[in-house]
Amino acid sequence: MKNLLTIAGSDSSGGAGIQADLKTFAALGVYGMSVITAVTAQNTQGVERVEEISREMVKAQIDAVFNDIPVDAVKIGMVSNPEIIQQIALSLKDWKAINIVVDPVMVSKSGYHLLKPEAIETLKKELLPLARVVTPNLPEVKAMLGWEVTDEERMESAAQEIFSLGLESVLIKGGHLEGAANDLLFDGKDLTWFKSPRLNKKNTHGTGCTLSAAIAAHLALGYDLMTAVEKSKSYLSGAIEHSFPLGHGVGPVHHFY
Ligand code: PLP
Repeated sequence: MKNLLTIAGSDSSGGAGIQADLKTFAALGVYGMSVITAVTAQNTQGVERVEEISREMVKAQIDAVFNDIPVDAVKIGMVSNPEIIQQIALSLKDWKAINIVVDPVMVSKSGYHLLKPEAIETLKKELLPLARVVTPNLPEVKAMLGWEVTDEERMESAAQEIFSLGLESVLIKGGHLEGAANDLLFDGKDLTWFKSPRLNKKNTHGTGCTLSAAIAAHLALGYDLMTAVEKSKSYLSGAIEHSFPLGHGVGPVHHFY
């Protein structure tokens, strides 16, 4: 059995965050564990309130897991503030964690800032360089670089600029552009496009969390990065295809189909 750890925020509506990660792990046949960085009160209509977990408690959760259980991959999602980011970086270095996938979660689809804007620099400097791969969407690319990607040519420049922050590799998700949902992987050598048609579905809550959790699971299962991305995109397409209406807002993708 492969053991996966997600370090992320809780979504009370079950569609994104820790809950999406654990469902993805279960569906892909790996064992899921969690370190919670923040608790959100949210539903399909938006985030109502957030309480951050203390730096000490984040450390204690990570230590409790690594002290006892071998961890084959780590997915990092919502990390809230600079103190939590610094702690995660320190702890993962201390425990020599492998197969780290960072989804640099910043703003929810409903517009709530899940990462404090002043934490972006800490994230760039301390956490992203530890990752096997970082998976920003286009608004996150804009927040990191300060300029907007408006077409696929600019996505290629952005991938190279983000890589040069000292990363091992970056997967930029192109879903915010019009047309097909094409993602771009850059590992310092090759620019590789992963093309998929746009699925016109309204219920897409949890897509970003699901993709990064699936990549972590496939890395733990021993696939190389290119294959892990390809398999994870295909898993996500299935989950979007089976997404469903829930509540009064944007429903979630579905993991067991
Ligand atoms: N809530 C939590 C805890 C998350 O980690 C995320 C995204 O990563 C979201 C909400 C936002 O999800 P969405 O943008 O799909 O609404």
